[in-house]
Amino acid sequence: MSAELSDLYQNVILDHNRRPRNRGRIPSANRSAHGDNPSCGDQCDVFLRLDGDRIAEISFEGSGCAISQASASLMTTQLKGKTAAEAERLYGEFHEIVTTGKEPEDMSDLGAFAGVHAFPARIKCATLSWHAALNALHGDPAPATTESHID
Ligand code: ZN
Repeated sequence: MSAELSDLYQNVILDHNRRPRNRGRIPSANRSAHGDNPSCGDQCDVFLRLDGDRIAEISFEGSGCAISQASASLMTTQLKGKTAAEAERLYGEFHEIVTTGKEPEDMSDLGAFAGVHAFPARIKCATLSWHAALNALHGDPAPATTESHID
């Protein structure tokens, strides 16, 4: 692993890789979506139990690189309990972090992914699970793919 890449794998990312949170299918899920990042080989399924407009439970299953799997794990911890509008706003914040390297003002764990901005090919790895989550949230049956509408 290069020095640059090791900088990218900060403690938060390593921790989520070693101990993924909310991994596995939720039996009571009422929404799900699949995400695919063919440029890296990452796969991600996101499962939600929506209670009205709120994400009561969220989980993921997936395979792929460390960035994609750590991001999926962290995403579930960030979105649990959030409304659709709050989830959209958090994704906006995360997208800005991974594309510009801007650190979050509230020292959120999302900042662990700021280093991704220096590796444009990895941005898709980081955002894959978020796209799947938003698709699940909005009931979009189309699989999220990094080859179409995301940057
Ligand atoms: Zn990847």
